[in-house]
Amino acid sequence: MNNISVEQFYSFCAQGKLMGVKCEECKALYSVPKPFCLKCNSKNLSWVQLKGVGKLASYTIVYVPHPSFQNEAPYILGVVELEEGVKLLSRIKNVKLEELKIGMPLKIDFEKTEGNAWPNWVRYYFKPNLTENNIL
Ligand SMILES: [Zn+2]
Repeated sequence: MNNISVEQFYSFCAQGKLMGVKCEECKALYSVPKPFCLKCNSKNLSWVQLKGVGKLASYTIVYVPHPSFQNEAPYILGVVELEEGVKLLSRIKNVKLEELKIGMPLKIDFEKTEGNAWPNWVRYYFKPNLTENNIL
C-alpha cells in the first residue's frame, strides 16, 4: 500500500512543493501520481521532491478553454521537460505569446484558485526562469 494520490499531490502543492513519484523497484520516475508503476506494475512507489525547473518542450495556445478558465483565454498550455527528465503538462504564465520559445527555461510557481473545490484550490504553473541568466 502507498499514499500516492492526486489529493496528496495537491496538498504538497499547497506547501509549495512539486512532488513526483518514483518506483522503488525499477527506479522509474513520474511527474504525475500513478497508482502503480507503468513499467513494472509495482505498487512500491514513493514521493520524491522535484526541483520544479525545466524547459519548454512544446506548447499550445488555448483560445476556447474549459468554462472555469473562460476569462483567462487565450492562455498557454505547455509541456515542461523537468531537469529530472520527466515531462509535466502545465499552464505557462508571465510570458507574452510572442516571447514563447521552445527550450526557454521555466520554473514552477503556485497559486490559489478562486474556487475552493478540493483538490484544485492550489494549482501549479510555470513561468520564465529569469535566474537562469540566459540572454534572449
Ligand atoms: Zn517500476
